[in-house]
Parts: sequence; structure tokens; C-alpha cells
Amino acid sequence: MAAPITTISDSKDRQGLNLIAAHSHVRGLGVAPDTLTPKPSADGLVGQQKARKAASVILQMVKEGKIAGRAVLISGPPSTGKTAIAIGMSKGLGEDTPFTMLASSEIFSLEMSKTEALEQAFRKSIGVRIREESEVIEGEVVEIQIDRSVTGNNKSGKLTLKTTDMETLYDMGTRMIDSMTKEKVMAGDIISIDKASGRITKLGRSYTRSRDYDAMGPDTKFVQCPDGELQVRRETVHTVSLHEIDVINSRTQGFLALFSGDTGEIRSEVRDQINTKVAEWREEGKAEIVPGVLFIDEVHMLDIECFSYINRALEEELAPIVIMASNRGSTTIRGTNYRSPHGLPLDFLDRVVIISTHPYSESEIRDIISVRAQEEEVDISPNALALLTKFGQEAGLRYASNLITTSHLLAQKRRAKEVDAQDVQRSYQLFYDPTRSARFVAEFEKRLIGEDGGVTMGGVN
Ligand code: ATP
Repeated sequence: MAAPITTISDSKDRQGLNLIAAHSHVRGLGVAPDTLTPKPSADGLVGQQKARKAASVILQMVKEGKIAGRAVLISGPPSTGKTAIAIGMSKGLGEDTPFTMLASSEIFSLEMSKTEALEQAFRKSIGVRIREESEVIEGEVVEIQIDRSVTGNNKSGKLTLKTTDMETLYDMGTRMIDSMTKEKVMAGDIISIDKASGRITKLGRSYTRSRDYDAMGPDTKFVQCPDGELQVRRETVHTVSLHEIDVINSRTQGFLALFSGDTGEIRSEVRDQINTKVAEWREEGKAEIVPGVLFIDEVHMLDIECFSYINRALEEELAPIVIMASNRGSTTIRGTNYRSPHGLPLDFLDRVVIISTHPYSESEIRDIISVRAQEEEVDISPNALALLTKFGQEAGLRYASNLITTSHLLAQKRRAKEVDAQDVQRSYQLFYDPTRSARFVAEFEKRLIGEDGGVTMGGVN
């Protein structure tokens, strides 16, 4: 097996960037860690306390590994923070817990079948934490002899170590000394050397040794070798997603596909092999599974085939938790003639835990706009804030948020330091919100291109 090379955080960065920019102010769910009670405004999130509390309970269960293979639906009107709450949850997950975002419409545009796209998204959301032991020699530097013929920083030298059993002298032979460590190694220093990489880490001076031992962390263990030498072994942990392991081991793709994102379809035999291998690693105690979160936005855009795929995938042994969001009420399930709540088949809806979000009050809209303006580093006058809040109530939070940026540009044009009501008003006139746009379409319907592609000018074809 090739060594996995990409970490979960790398892949997190690549996924769903478009969804994240508008939520850059969200830093968590804003709940008190012990009671999971949401603060009115914290971590960039304002209001929506019931939904945040519910989300934090689920997050807690994910962290405790109790809820893999379950599905959660966040449902509510547009711009009520469904995506923001999902992002808040992702921030609360451990560093190496995978979080994948998928906008449902994406899977219809990828150059692969819908179910393959979903399978990849599922496997991106399951992490494999792999432990590797590296052998490290640790000891006190007794003597360093620098090879005088070598100049510059990369001095080659001979380093003699007194190992931690304080008896054995360990001669490291010739190696690069200064290049391996930012600080210069001197006699009396306690250092460790990774035998595989030759990397030298300075742990401190001999008189601080007990503290330095503590600082070495819980993943370190001391091993007494048969020749009396005391070695330090450190366990390094990498977490990669099942999808990354699939890609690396897929002969047709190769690991470079991870960087281009163009992974194409992966054969099911490859996945079967990986599942078997990972099961072996788990049995040998070398790896553990980290079930992550797959967030599917606009879930009503999925069709009946996708829902039956998800239903089946959630039953499998390795399954992430699936969080979905929808702003639809009763609507047709794509690929059928049936209507159902949120466009989800009823048998699927049956297994879903539902969190609902509600429209914001005036003061919540004001607070969210303020948080957003701070995030964009835009100063807003009280009048401008009041006007943005009014537009937020009438035309939606997302529209009002967008006006912050455009109003800021207009304020800059008139060399003002602060956005004022006149900039907001001007922006409002320049850019339509959905309601005014609908009115415009209704008014000029005859002059616009219709569904059949025909242009009707002044009522004459
Ligand atoms: P849609 O149904 O249209 O997809 P949504 O419910 O997912 O909408 P978001 O995209 O989360 O809504 O919210 C719109 C904007 O308002 C985003 O920039 C989001 O970060 C921000 N926002 C929404 N709710 C909150 C909140 N409670 N606190 C802070 N920001 C919020």
C-alpha cells in the first residue's frame, strides 16, 4: 500500500469553498461547553438558540462516536442560518474529524454518475486515524566535533550522546547537525534523534530534564533495548479519509489526482480491498475509524435514486453522520410524481432527526449584520445599520449582507471612512432583491426571452 499523504485538513480546505466565504464569521456553535446552552450571540452566531442547542447535542454525540450512520435534517425558510449552523458544527469537531460539504446540484454536474459522486462524498467523510511508531534516541550531548572543512550553516559533524540510562555512550557518527535544528546543539543539551529521518529535536538543557520529559507528551514511550540502550519511541498519528486511500491506491488515478481533484470513478474492487485492509489495521490496533460529517445542502435537489443510495449507505458499517439542509415545504420528490415534506421520500424522512430554524427578529437581524460588517472590516454608521436591518427584514438576510460590500465600495468612492445610509440606499437602488427582480420580470415579461426561446417584442413574435 502506498503511504497516504494528504491530511483531512487539506481536503477540508478544498471542499465547499464557495459555501464557506459567506460564513467566515462563524467560529462555532456559541454554546457553553458544560451545559451546551447557547449564548444569545457567540462564536459569530446570533439567536436561533433552539436549533443551536439541538445541533450542539448532535455534535456532542458525534464527538463521542455515538451517532455514526444517522441523518439530520435542518429545515427552515431561506437565510435562517441552516448552513451557518452546519458550519458552526464543523468548527466544533476535532481537528482530524472529516467534514465534507456538498451542494446537491453539484452531483448532477460532475463527470461521474450521481451515486459515484455520493459514494465519494461519503468516503471523504470517514477518517482513518493511523498510528505509526518511530524510533527515537534520546540523550544528553556529551561532545560535538565539527568537521572544519565544511562551511556555512550545514556543518557536518560528529555528535556523541550519553543516552538516558546515563551509561551507554551513543556515537551518532557524521551527520548534519545545525541544519536539522533551528537552535544550535551544544554539549549538555538533551536532544532526541529520529533514527529514520535523522531529525534532531532539542528538548532542553540537562538541568531541566524532568520538565522536558513531561513536555514530550503522552504519545512517547521509553523502550529498554536488549543491549541496555534506552530508546524513546514516539507515535505519530495521521488521519486520512477513506476516499484519499481509495484514490492513492486506484491504479487508474494515482495520488496526484488528489491535488487536481479530478479523481474520476473509482472501481468497486479498489474500495473492497481498502475496506479489507482498513479492517486488518483496526484489528492489529494500527488504525481506528473516525466517523465524520457529510453536509448536503439543498437536499430537495437530490432525486429518488440518490435517496435510496443514502438510505443504504447509512446502514453500512462505515458510515458518517449525514446532515442535510432544505428550505422547501411540501414539494415533489425529484424523479417521481409524489409530493412530500422537504421533497424527501417518507421512508427516508422517517429515519431523520429534524432541527428547524425560524425567521429572525429585527434585533437579531441587526446583530447578524453587525457581526458580518465586523468580519468584512467595514465601519457602518448607526443610520446605515438601521437601513440594512430594514432591508434584511424585507428582502432577506443574505441580500442585506451583500449590500454591506457594495455600500462599502460606494463609501470608498466618496472617500468616506464609514458606510452611511446614503451608500446603503444607493446600493439598494443599484441591486435588486429577489422580490423586486420578480416584479421586474412580471412587468417586462413580454420583452424577455421565454421558455421556448422566442423573444416577444411589444407583443409581436
Ligand atoms: P438557504 O435556505 O437560502 O440556503 P440558510 O438557512 O442556509 O439559507 P445561511 O446561508 O446560513 O441560510 O444564512 C445566510 C447568511 O446569514 C449567511 O451569511 C450566514 O452566515 C448568515 N447567518 C444566518 N444566520 C445566522 C446567525 N444565526 N448568526 C450569524 N450569521 C447568520
